[in-house]
Amino acid sequence: MSIATIEVSISALLHNVAAFKTLSPNSQIMAIVKANAYSHGKNMIATCLDDVVDYFGVARLEEGIELRKIGIKSPIVLLEGFFLHDEVTQLLKYNLQTVIHCQEQIDKLKYLDLPAGSLDVWFKLDSGMHRLGFRPEQAGQAFQSLCDCQVIKQSINVMSHFCCADDVRSSITTEQMTIFDQFIATACDPSRIGKQSIAASGGILAWPVSHRDVIRPGIALYGVSPFSYDEPNRATGAGLGLKPVMVFKSEIITVREHKEGESLGYGLIWQAQYSTRLAVVAMGYGDGYPRDILANTPVWINQRMVPIVGRVAMDMILVDLGPNATDKAGDEVILWGNDALPVEKIAAHSGMSAYELLTRLTERAKLRYVD
Ligand SMILES: *Cc1c(COP(=O)(O)O)cnc(C)c1O
Repeated sequence: MSIATIEVSISALLHNVAAFKTLSPNSQIMAIVKANAYSHGKNMIATCLDDVVDYFGVARLEEGIELRKIGIKSPIVLLEGFFLHDEVTQLLKYNLQTVIHCQEQIDKLKYLDLPAGSLDVWFKLDSGMHRLGFRPEQAGQAFQSLCDCQVIKQSINVMSHFCCADDVRSSITTEQMTIFDQFIATACDPSRIGKQSIAASGGILAWPVSHRDVIRPGIALYGVSPFSYDEPNRATGAGLGLKPVMVFKSEIITVREHKEGESLGYGLIWQAQYSTRLAVVAMGYGDGYPRDILANTPVWINQRMVPIVGRVAMDMILVDLGPNATDKAGDEVILWGNDALPVEKIAAHSGMSAYELLTRLTERAKLRYVD
């Protein structure tokens, strides 16, 4: 049966980790596996990387608990932190570390009757993103009150997050590092400061001075560029020395004749200017392929690029194979992930970021691990 498949290359994943180790030999690695490892399947990704990286980063408590339940040994950091008292008990039970980004969390920790020195935390400084974290003018006092919480460990890790690291010309990134360094230099008690971490993919690839103790690759871990695909750079993971981990593919369900002048698909939005052959492909927005793509967005079939025609439907797309095509039912169709068709290119054709294309893939698309 033809079916949408997310083919994941473990050797490409390991290549990317090795590339980070070369780029940043003195930093530890926190592999970001939130959103089911950007749809690569977090359990398998974490299992393969457990002995290779130093930390895992997740966005939701449930993700961390699941990784522990399948036997992941490395430290796991809950990047959005906890919300409720009860969740702190879960953090300790499953040996998870948490980000502390607001005073309410510190207030909850203060009154918890839990073993002293048991919780590993990451103090989050808002250095300019203005999403999570303590504002610089409040951070010193907040850090002090965190130090006073019995339940946390002696050493408090400090982290921040860049808002514009993907823009290599932006001065904001340098300003954020200055704010971070000022905080470290003036924060209450230096003996309580543990690991420092700022860089996600953009910082890792474009801002070497941001690497610090722990780098946090997400999209670059999966071999995809965090930079925009605009002219003139056309940045792709491969162009940055990474290997795309995912090939998103399916198969031709059937090939049919189509006559000059006939339109096709929902809304009949495309009309053939010549008689041709069409492939009906088992792929649609029900698998997470974007519905709103530009005209002539390509797919890869039998060593060439061919355009999608008409509207993307829930379960099927139509492809113009050309008048003399010899393709047949069961032939492989690559939507993205090979050299010719990087996901960054489809992102440009759909007005979405590569981040969104990856994370919106649905459960109907089956994961398959190779090499
Ligand atoms: C998602 C996330 C990352 C990884 O970001 P990429 O741009 O995908 O590398 C790193 N750190 C934090 C706090 C995040 O939320």
